[in-house]
Amino acid sequence: MDKDTQHGFCANCKKTVTYHYESLDHKKELIKTVLTAGLWLPIWLFLTVARPKICDVCGQAFQAE
Ligand SMILES: [Zn+2]
Repeated sequence: MDKDTQHGFCANCKKTVTYHYESLDHKKELIKTVLTAGLWLPIWLFLTVARPKICDVCGQAFQAE
């Protein structure tokens, strides 16, 4: 059972679908932060708190109400 799965309305599918949050590859983000001398860090933090929701049906990111 996946606790990350929730329901929301997908504008692309035009119906209520299950969605999940896009998982972040923190190792990759850490490498980007090092390569940009720390400039990537705010973006990394933003992505961590505002992960896009991905529709399980069409695979597109969408905004739930
Ligand atoms: Zn969809």
